[in-house]
Amino acid sequence: LAANNAKQIWHPMAHPADMQANPPRVVMKGEGAHVTDLEGRTVLDAVGGLWNVNLGYSCEPIKRAIAEQLDELPYYSGFRGTSTGPSIELAWELTQWFEPEVMARAFFTSGGSDSVETALRLARQYWKIRGQGDRTKFLALKKGYHGTHFGGASVNGNANFRRNYEPLMPGVFHIPAPCTYRNPFDETDPEKLARLCARALEDEIAFQGADTIAAFIMEPVLGAGGVIVPHESFMPLVRAICDRHEILLIADEVVTGFGRTGAWSGSRAVGVKPDMMTIAKAITSGYFPLGATLIGGAVAEVFEADKTSFGAIGHGYTYSGHPVGCAAGIAALAETRRLKVNENAAARGLELAAVLEELKARHEVVGDIRCKGLMAAIELVSDRGTKKAADKGTMKRVSDAAYEAGVMLRVSGSNIILSPPLILTSGEVREIGEALDAGLSAIA
Ligand code: PMP
Repeated sequence: LAANNAKQIWHPMAHPADMQANPPRVVMKGEGAHVTDLEGRTVLDAVGGLWNVNLGYSCEPIKRAIAEQLDELPYYSGFRGTSTGPSIELAWELTQWFEPEVMARAFFTSGGSDSVETALRLARQYWKIRGQGDRTKFLALKKGYHGTHFGGASVNGNANFRRNYEPLMPGVFHIPAPCTYRNPFDETDPEKLARLCARALEDEIAFQGADTIAAFIMEPVLGAGGVIVPHESFMPLVRAICDRHEILLIADEVVTGFGRTGAWSGSRAVGVKPDMMTIAKAITSGYFPLGATLIGGAVAEVFEADKTSFGAIGHGYTYSGHPVGCAAGIAALAETRRLKVNENAAARGLELAAVLEELKARHEVVGDIRCKGLMAAIELVSDRGTKKAADKGTMKRVSDAAYEAGVMLRVSGSNIILSPPLILTSGEVREIGEALDAGLSAIA
Protein backbone atom coordinates (compact mmCIF):
# COMPACT_ATOMS: atom_id res chain seq x y z
CA LEU A 1 0.00 0.00 0.00
CA ALA A 2 1.98 2.96 -1.25
CA ALA A 3 0.48 6.40 -1.76
CA ASN A 4 2.44 6.63 -5.03
CA ASN A 5 0.46 3.73 -6.41
CA ALA A 6 -2.92 5.35 -5.82
CA LYS A 7 -3.68 5.56 -9.54
CA GLN A 8 -6.94 3.66 -9.65
CA ILE A 9 -8.89 5.70 -7.16
CA TRP A 10 -10.46 8.99 -8.14
CA HIS A 11 -11.14 11.20 -5.18
CA PRO A 12 -14.13 13.52 -4.82
CA MET A 13 -13.62 17.02 -6.22
CA ALA A 14 -10.05 16.17 -7.31
CA HIS A 15 -8.69 16.21 -10.84
CA PRO A 16 -7.29 12.74 -11.47
CA ALA A 17 -4.07 14.10 -13.00
CA ASP A 18 -3.64 16.40 -10.05
CA MET A 19 -3.97 13.45 -7.70
CA GLN A 20 -1.28 11.54 -9.53
CA ALA A 21 1.03 14.52 -9.41
CA ASN A 22 0.32 14.95 -5.69
CA PRO A 23 -0.21 11.50 -4.21
CA PRO A 24 -2.84 11.47 -1.48
CA ARG A 25 -1.98 11.35 2.17
CA VAL A 26 -3.16 7.96 3.31
CA VAL A 27 -4.87 8.11 6.68
CA MET A 28 -4.51 4.89 8.62
CA LYS A 29 -5.81 5.53 12.10
CA GLY A 30 -7.78 7.98 14.16
CA GLU A 31 -8.07 8.76 17.83
CA GLY A 32 -9.91 11.63 19.48
CA ALA A 33 -9.43 14.63 17.22
CA HIS A 34 -6.22 13.24 15.67
CA VAL A 35 -5.41 11.03 12.68
CA THR A 36 -2.24 9.16 11.78
CA ASP A 37 -0.98 8.79 8.23
CA LEU A 38 0.87 6.01 6.42
CA GLU A 39 4.24 7.51 7.40
CA GLY A 40 3.21 7.37 11.04
CA ARG A 41 2.66 11.11 11.45
CA THR A 42 -0.14 12.06 13.81
CA VAL A 43 -1.90 15.37 13.12
CA LEU A 44 -4.94 17.16 14.47
CA ASP A 45 -7.81 16.81 12.02
CA ALA A 46 -9.11 20.37 11.88
CA VAL A 47 -11.66 19.28 9.27
CA GLY A 48 -13.29 16.65 11.48
CA GLY A 49 -13.34 14.19 8.57
CA LEU A 50 -15.55 16.37 6.39
CA TRP A 51 -17.56 18.48 8.84
CA ASN A 52 -18.93 15.25 10.27
CA VAL A 53 -16.77 13.50 12.87
CA ASN A 54 -18.21 15.63 15.65
CA LEU A 55 -17.47 13.09 18.39
CA GLY A 56 -13.92 12.32 17.27
CA TYR A 57 -12.45 9.03 16.14
CA SER A 58 -12.70 6.95 19.28
CA CYS A 59 -16.34 7.05 20.27
CA GLU A 60 -16.76 3.64 21.89
CA PRO A 61 -20.58 3.67 22.22
CA ILE A 62 -20.99 4.15 18.45
CA LYS A 63 -18.47 1.43 17.64
CA ARG A 64 -20.21 -0.92 20.05
CA ALA A 65 -23.67 -0.15 18.66
CA ILE A 66 -22.43 -0.87 15.13
CA ALA A 67 -20.79 -4.15 16.16
CA GLU A 68 -23.88 -5.32 18.03
CA GLN A 69 -26.24 -4.43 15.20
CA LEU A 70 -23.97 -6.18 12.67
CA ASP A 71 -24.27 -9.30 14.77
CA GLU A 72 -28.02 -9.02 15.15
CA LEU A 73 -29.12 -7.95 11.66
CA PRO A 74 -26.59 -6.41 9.27
CA TYR A 75 -29.17 -5.20 6.77
CA TYR A 76 -32.80 -5.13 5.91
CA SER A 77 -34.65 -2.88 3.54
CA GLY A 78 -37.47 -0.48 4.27
CA PHE A 79 -39.20 -1.47 1.03
CA ARG A 80 -42.14 -3.89 0.80
CA GLY A 81 -43.80 -2.84 4.03
CA THR A 82 -40.87 -3.98 6.16
CA SER A 83 -38.91 -2.00 8.69
CA THR A 84 -36.32 -2.53 11.41
CA GLY A 85 -36.13 -1.66 15.08
CA PRO A 86 -33.23 0.80 14.82
CA SER A 87 -34.82 2.73 11.94
CA ILE A 88 -38.13 3.10 13.79
CA GLU A 89 -36.32 4.14 16.96
CA LEU A 90 -34.05 6.66 15.23
CA ALA A 91 -37.00 8.24 13.39
CA TRP A 92 -38.67 8.75 16.75
CA GLU A 93 -35.44 10.13 18.25
CA LEU A 94 -35.06 12.61 15.40
CA THR A 95 -38.58 13.95 15.76
CA GLN A 96 -37.87 14.42 19.48
CA TRP A 97 -34.56 16.07 18.75
CA PHE A 98 -36.09 18.43 16.20
CA GLU A 99 -39.32 18.92 18.12
CA PRO A 100 -38.78 22.71 18.38
CA GLU A 101 -38.64 22.83 14.57
CA VAL A 102 -41.86 20.73 14.47
CA MET A 103 -40.29 17.97 12.42
CA ALA A 104 -42.82 15.15 12.41
CA ARG A 105 -41.42 12.46 10.10
CA ALA A 106 -38.02 11.16 8.99
CA PHE A 107 -37.21 9.74 5.57
CA PHE A 108 -33.84 7.99 5.74
CA THR A 109 -31.20 8.33 3.06
CA SER A 110 -27.55 7.38 2.60
CA GLY A 111 -26.09 10.87 2.94
CA GLY A 112 -26.53 14.58 2.44
CA SER A 113 -26.94 14.63 -1.33
CA ASP A 114 -29.67 12.01 -1.08
CA SER A 115 -31.38 14.01 1.67
CA VAL A 116 -31.44 17.12 -0.51
CA GLU A 117 -32.69 15.16 -3.51
CA THR A 118 -35.46 13.70 -1.37
CA ALA A 119 -36.50 17.13 -0.09
CA LEU A 120 -36.63 18.61 -3.60
CA ARG A 121 -38.67 15.72 -4.93
CA LEU A 122 -41.06 15.72 -1.98
CA ALA A 123 -41.52 19.49 -2.42
CA ARG A 124 -42.68 18.96 -6.00
CA GLN A 125 -44.95 16.10 -5.01
CA TYR A 126 -46.41 18.18 -2.15
CA TRP A 127 -47.61 20.82 -4.61
CA LYS A 128 -49.00 18.23 -7.00
CA ILE A 129 -51.03 16.73 -4.17
CA ARG A 130 -52.30 20.20 -3.33
CA GLY A 131 -53.42 20.68 -6.93
CA GLN A 132 -50.77 23.31 -7.67
CA GLY A 133 -48.60 21.28 -10.00
CA ASP A 134 -47.22 24.46 -11.61
CA ARG A 135 -45.16 25.06 -8.52
CA THR A 136 -42.03 23.32 -9.78
CA LYS A 137 -39.25 25.91 -9.49
CA PHE A 138 -36.65 26.21 -6.76
CA LEU A 139 -34.88 29.24 -5.36
CA ALA A 140 -31.53 29.07 -3.59
CA LEU A 141 -28.55 31.15 -2.50
CA LYS A 142 -25.46 31.83 -4.55
CA LYS A 143 -22.50 30.12 -2.82
CA GLY A 144 -24.89 27.58 -1.30
CA TYR A 145 -23.83 23.94 -1.38
CA HIS A 146 -26.40 21.17 -1.52
CA GLY A 147 -24.58 18.09 -2.71
CA THR A 148 -23.82 16.61 -6.07
CA HIS A 149 -26.91 14.88 -7.41
CA PHE A 150 -28.55 16.60 -10.36
CA GLY A 151 -31.19 18.26 -8.19
CA GLY A 152 -28.69 19.26 -5.52
CA ALA A 153 -26.13 20.44 -8.07
CA SER A 154 -28.88 22.51 -9.71
CA VAL A 155 -29.61 24.38 -6.51
CA ASN A 156 -25.87 24.69 -5.74
CA GLY A 157 -24.71 28.25 -6.02
CA ASN A 158 -21.09 27.66 -6.99
CA ALA A 159 -20.16 27.52 -10.68
CA ASN A 160 -17.39 24.98 -10.06
CA PHE A 161 -19.89 22.33 -9.10
CA ARG A 162 -22.21 23.09 -12.00
CA ARG A 163 -20.58 23.94 -15.25
CA ASN A 164 -19.14 20.54 -16.19
CA TYR A 165 -22.55 18.96 -15.77
CA GLU A 166 -24.88 21.32 -17.53
CA PRO A 167 -27.65 21.38 -18.52
CA LEU A 168 -28.84 20.96 -14.96
CA MET A 169 -32.41 20.98 -13.70
CA PRO A 170 -34.31 23.86 -15.30
CA GLY A 171 -36.30 26.31 -13.21
CA VAL A 172 -33.72 27.04 -10.51
CA PHE A 173 -32.84 30.63 -9.64
CA HIS A 174 -30.29 32.05 -7.25
CA ILE A 175 -30.16 35.19 -5.15
CA PRO A 176 -27.06 36.74 -3.56
CA ALA A 177 -25.82 35.24 -0.31
CA PRO A 178 -25.53 37.64 2.63
CA CYS A 179 -21.73 37.64 2.75
CA THR A 180 -20.45 40.96 4.07
CA TYR A 181 -17.00 40.42 2.51
CA ARG A 182 -18.22 39.94 -1.05
CA ASN A 183 -21.70 40.91 -2.21
CA PRO A 184 -23.13 42.74 -5.21
CA PHE A 185 -24.46 45.58 -3.02
CA ASP A 186 -21.05 46.48 -1.52
CA GLU A 187 -22.81 46.41 1.82
CA THR A 188 -20.71 45.63 4.88
CA ASP A 189 -23.37 46.04 7.57
CA PRO A 190 -24.72 42.52 8.17
CA GLU A 191 -28.23 43.57 9.11
CA LYS A 192 -28.64 45.91 6.15
CA LEU A 193 -27.21 43.21 3.89
CA ALA A 194 -29.74 40.69 5.23
CA ARG A 195 -32.51 43.09 4.23
CA LEU A 196 -31.04 43.63 0.76
CA CYS A 197 -30.72 39.89 0.11
CA ALA A 198 -34.26 39.31 1.40
CA ARG A 199 -35.44 42.02 -0.97
CA ALA A 200 -33.63 40.25 -3.82
CA LEU A 201 -35.57 37.13 -2.90
CA GLU A 202 -38.87 39.04 -2.96
CA ASP A 203 -37.88 40.50 -6.29
CA GLU A 204 -37.10 37.10 -7.81
CA ILE A 205 -40.36 35.67 -6.52
CA ALA A 206 -42.29 38.54 -8.10
CA PHE A 207 -40.40 38.05 -11.37
CA GLN A 208 -40.96 34.28 -11.50
CA GLY A 209 -44.47 34.33 -10.07
CA ALA A 210 -44.95 32.82 -6.63
CA ASP A 211 -47.37 30.25 -8.01
CA THR A 212 -44.53 28.68 -10.03
CA ILE A 213 -42.18 28.17 -7.08
CA ALA A 214 -42.07 24.97 -5.03
CA ALA A 215 -39.43 25.81 -2.43
CA PHE A 216 -36.53 27.91 -1.29
CA ILE A 217 -33.54 25.96 0.00
CA MET A 218 -30.76 27.39 2.15
CA GLU A 219 -28.09 26.45 4.66
CA PRO A 220 -28.63 28.47 7.87
CA VAL A 221 -24.86 29.01 7.84
CA LEU A 222 -23.33 28.37 4.42
CA GLY A 223 -20.55 25.82 4.74
CA ALA A 224 -18.69 24.72 1.64
CA GLY A 225 -19.27 28.11 0.01
CA GLY A 226 -16.88 29.57 2.59
CA VAL A 227 -18.65 29.66 5.97
CA ILE A 228 -20.95 32.57 5.29
CA VAL A 229 -22.80 33.51 8.47
CA PRO A 230 -25.97 35.45 7.67
CA HIS A 231 -27.13 38.05 10.16
CA GLU A 232 -29.58 36.48 12.61
CA SER A 233 -32.42 38.42 11.00
CA PHE A 234 -31.91 36.87 7.56
CA MET A 235 -33.49 33.46 7.93
CA PRO A 236 -36.54 34.84 9.81
CA LEU A 237 -36.98 37.35 6.95
CA VAL A 238 -36.79 34.48 4.47
CA ARG A 239 -39.32 32.51 6.53
CA ALA A 240 -41.74 35.47 6.49
CA ILE A 241 -41.36 35.89 2.73
CA CYS A 242 -41.91 32.18 2.11
CA ASP A 243 -45.02 32.29 4.33
CA ARG A 244 -46.38 35.28 2.49
CA HIS A 245 -46.04 33.51 -0.86
CA GLU A 246 -46.75 29.99 0.40
CA ILE A 247 -43.31 28.77 -0.66
CA LEU A 248 -41.82 25.81 1.21
CA LEU A 249 -38.64 26.54 3.14
CA ILE A 250 -36.08 23.72 3.15
CA ALA A 251 -33.25 24.14 5.67
CA ASP A 252 -30.17 22.21 4.57
CA GLU A 253 -28.68 21.37 7.95
CA VAL A 254 -26.28 18.68 6.72
CA VAL A 255 -23.43 20.63 8.34
CA THR A 256 -25.25 22.83 10.85
CA GLY A 257 -27.36 20.09 12.43
CA PHE A 258 -26.32 18.54 15.76
CA GLY A 259 -24.37 21.34 17.38
CA ARG A 260 -21.64 22.54 15.02
CA THR A 261 -22.72 26.19 15.19
CA GLY A 262 -23.22 26.06 18.94
CA ALA A 263 -26.96 25.38 18.63
CA TRP A 264 -28.65 22.05 17.98
CA SER A 265 -29.67 23.37 14.59
CA GLY A 266 -28.96 26.47 12.56
CA SER A 267 -32.69 27.11 12.17
CA ARG A 268 -33.30 26.88 15.92
CA ALA A 269 -30.50 29.36 16.60
CA VAL A 270 -32.51 32.03 14.78
CA GLY A 271 -35.97 30.83 15.81
CA VAL A 272 -37.07 29.51 12.43
CA LYS A 273 -39.28 26.50 11.77
CA PRO A 274 -38.52 25.22 8.26
CA ASP A 275 -40.99 23.04 6.34
CA MET A 276 -38.36 20.38 5.75
CA MET A 277 -34.82 19.83 6.98
CA THR A 278 -32.01 17.82 5.43
CA ILE A 279 -29.51 16.19 7.75
CA ALA A 280 -26.59 13.73 7.38
CA LYS A 281 -22.91 13.84 8.41
CA ALA A 282 -22.91 14.15 12.23
CA ILE A 283 -26.06 12.04 12.55
CA THR A 284 -23.61 9.11 12.93
CA SER A 285 -20.56 11.30 13.58
CA GLY A 286 -19.22 9.87 10.32
CA TYR A 287 -19.15 6.27 11.54
CA PHE A 288 -21.71 5.11 8.95
CA PRO A 289 -23.14 6.73 5.81
CA LEU A 290 -26.60 7.94 6.78
CA GLY A 291 -28.81 10.93 6.19
CA ALA A 292 -32.43 11.91 6.58
CA THR A 293 -34.97 14.31 5.20
CA LEU A 294 -37.15 15.56 8.02
CA ILE A 295 -40.66 16.51 7.12
CA GLY A 296 -42.48 19.17 9.08
CA GLY A 297 -45.89 18.49 10.61
CA ALA A 298 -47.95 20.54 8.17
CA VAL A 299 -46.24 19.02 5.11
CA ALA A 300 -46.56 15.51 6.52
CA GLU A 301 -50.29 16.04 7.03
CA VAL A 302 -50.77 16.89 3.37
CA PHE A 303 -49.02 13.69 2.31
CA GLU A 304 -50.89 11.61 4.85
CA ALA A 305 -54.29 12.97 3.87
CA ASP A 306 -53.52 12.47 0.17
CA LYS A 307 -55.99 10.35 -1.74
CA THR A 308 -54.57 11.06 -5.18
CA SER A 309 -51.15 9.44 -4.92
CA PHE A 310 -51.63 7.23 -1.89
CA GLY A 311 -48.87 4.66 -1.68
CA ALA A 312 -47.09 6.27 -4.56
CA ILE A 313 -44.05 8.08 -3.26
CA GLY A 314 -41.86 7.03 -6.17
CA HIS A 315 -38.70 7.68 -4.22
CA GLY A 316 -36.46 5.59 -1.99
CA TYR A 317 -33.05 4.02 -1.56
CA THR A 318 -31.87 0.46 -1.00
CA TYR A 319 -30.14 1.78 2.09
CA SER A 320 -33.01 3.92 3.41
CA GLY A 321 -33.14 3.14 7.12
CA HIS A 322 -30.10 0.84 7.10
CA PRO A 323 -30.26 -0.81 10.54
CA VAL A 324 -26.51 -0.53 11.17
CA GLY A 325 -26.56 3.14 10.19
CA CYS A 326 -29.58 3.79 12.36
CA ALA A 327 -28.00 1.95 15.31
CA ALA A 328 -24.92 4.15 14.84
CA GLY A 329 -27.22 7.18 14.71
CA ILE A 330 -29.01 6.29 17.94
CA ALA A 331 -25.68 5.89 19.74
CA ALA A 332 -24.22 9.06 18.20
CA LEU A 333 -27.22 11.17 19.21
CA ALA A 334 -27.09 9.85 22.77
CA GLU A 335 -23.38 10.75 23.04
CA THR A 336 -23.94 14.09 21.34
CA ARG A 337 -26.58 14.95 23.94
CA ARG A 338 -24.66 13.51 26.88
CA LEU A 339 -21.47 15.43 26.05
CA LYS A 340 -23.43 18.63 25.25
CA VAL A 341 -21.13 19.14 22.27
CA ASN A 342 -23.16 22.18 21.24
CA GLU A 343 -21.98 23.99 24.36
CA ASN A 344 -18.38 22.99 23.71
CA ALA A 345 -18.70 24.10 20.08
CA ALA A 346 -19.91 27.52 21.22
CA ALA A 347 -17.17 27.94 23.87
CA ARG A 348 -14.26 26.59 21.78
CA GLY A 349 -15.67 28.49 18.79
CA LEU A 350 -15.21 31.80 20.62
CA GLU A 351 -11.62 30.86 21.45
CA LEU A 352 -11.00 29.86 17.84
CA ALA A 353 -12.47 33.14 16.56
CA ALA A 354 -10.10 35.09 18.83
CA VAL A 355 -7.12 33.07 17.56
CA LEU A 356 -8.14 33.71 13.94
CA GLU A 357 -8.62 37.44 14.48
CA GLU A 358 -5.14 37.60 15.95
CA LEU A 359 -3.74 35.79 12.89
CA LYS A 360 -5.57 38.22 10.62
CA ALA A 361 -3.96 41.14 12.42
CA ARG A 362 -0.49 39.70 11.76
CA HIS A 363 -0.87 38.16 8.28
CA GLU A 364 -1.63 40.51 5.40
CA VAL A 365 -2.71 37.57 3.25
CA VAL A 366 -5.78 36.99 5.43
CA GLY A 367 -8.61 38.91 3.81
CA ASP A 368 -11.50 37.79 5.94
CA ILE A 369 -12.34 35.55 8.87
CA ARG A 370 -15.80 34.06 9.18
CA CYS A 371 -16.91 31.71 11.92
CA LYS A 372 -19.81 30.40 13.90
CA GLY A 373 -19.26 27.83 16.62
CA LEU A 374 -16.73 25.32 15.31
CA MET A 375 -17.08 26.10 11.64
CA ALA A 376 -14.71 28.70 10.27
CA ALA A 377 -13.24 30.00 7.04
CA ILE A 378 -10.07 31.99 6.56
CA GLU A 379 -10.19 33.66 3.18
CA LEU A 380 -6.78 34.38 1.68
CA VAL A 381 -6.19 37.21 -0.77
CA SER A 382 -3.17 38.39 -2.71
CA ASP A 383 -4.20 42.00 -2.06
CA ARG A 384 -6.47 43.21 0.73
CA GLY A 385 -7.53 46.26 -1.28
CA THR A 386 -8.70 44.46 -4.41
CA LYS A 387 -9.63 41.28 -2.51
CA LYS A 388 -8.05 39.24 -5.30
CA ALA A 389 -8.31 35.61 -4.26
CA ALA A 390 -5.08 33.80 -3.37
CA ASP A 391 -4.05 31.28 -6.05
CA LYS A 392 -4.08 27.52 -5.81
CA GLY A 393 -0.32 27.26 -5.26
CA THR A 394 -0.47 29.64 -2.31
CA MET A 395 -3.31 27.70 -0.73
CA LYS A 396 -1.40 24.46 -1.12
CA ARG A 397 1.75 25.91 0.44
CA VAL A 398 -0.24 27.06 3.46
CA SER A 399 -1.96 23.73 3.98
CA ASP A 400 1.24 21.73 3.43
CA ALA A 401 3.13 23.85 5.95
CA ALA A 402 0.27 23.54 8.44
CA TYR A 403 0.37 19.77 8.00
CA GLU A 404 4.10 19.82 8.69
CA ALA A 405 3.24 21.77 11.83
CA GLY A 406 0.77 19.09 12.86
CA VAL A 407 -2.67 20.13 11.62
CA MET A 408 -4.73 18.88 8.68
CA LEU A 409 -6.68 21.72 7.04
CA ARG A 410 -9.07 21.81 4.13
CA VAL A 411 -8.68 24.18 1.24
CA SER A 412 -11.77 25.15 -0.74
CA GLY A 413 -11.02 27.76 -3.42
CA SER A 414 -9.32 30.62 -1.60
CA ASN A 415 -10.74 29.57 1.77
CA ILE A 416 -9.16 27.49 4.48
CA ILE A 417 -12.01 25.64 6.08
CA LEU A 418 -12.01 24.52 9.69
CA SER A 419 -14.63 22.19 11.15
CA PRO A 420 -12.85 20.21 13.87
CA PRO A 421 -14.52 17.60 16.06
CA LEU A 422 -16.83 19.23 18.59
CA ILE A 423 -15.02 17.48 21.45
CA LEU A 424 -12.10 19.86 20.83
CA THR A 425 -10.17 21.14 23.85
CA SER A 426 -8.78 24.63 24.41
CA GLY A 427 -5.29 23.19 23.97
CA GLU A 428 -6.32 21.83 20.58
CA VAL A 429 -7.68 25.25 19.58
CA ARG A 430 -4.19 26.60 20.30
CA GLU A 431 -2.64 23.76 18.26
CA ILE A 432 -4.76 24.80 15.27
CA GLY A 433 -3.75 28.44 15.74
CA GLU A 434 -0.04 27.60 15.89
CA ALA A 435 -0.16 25.41 12.79
CA LEU A 436 -2.11 28.07 10.89
CA ASP A 437 0.49 30.60 11.93
CA ALA A 438 3.20 28.32 10.57
CA GLY A 439 1.20 27.80 7.35
CA LEU A 440 0.64 31.53 6.80
CA SER A 441 4.27 32.31 7.66
CA ALA A 442 5.39 29.89 4.93
CA ILE A 443 4.01 32.24 2.25
CA ALA A 444 5.07 35.51 3.89
N1 PMP B 1 -25.65 19.76 1.92
C1 PMP B 1 -24.68 20.40 2.56
C2 PMP B 1 -24.98 21.68 3.27
C3 PMP B 1 -23.39 19.86 2.59
O1 PMP B 1 -22.40 20.50 3.21
C4 PMP B 1 -23.15 18.62 1.96
C5 PMP B 1 -21.78 17.96 1.96
N2 PMP B 1 -20.70 18.70 2.33
C6 PMP B 1 -24.20 18.00 1.29
C7 PMP B 1 -25.45 18.60 1.30
C8 PMP B 1 -24.00 16.71 0.59
O2 PMP B 1 -23.78 15.71 1.50
P1 PMP B 1 -23.04 14.34 1.06
O3 PMP B 1 -21.65 14.72 0.70
O4 PMP B 1 -23.15 13.49 2.29
O5 PMP B 1 -23.80 13.76 -0.07
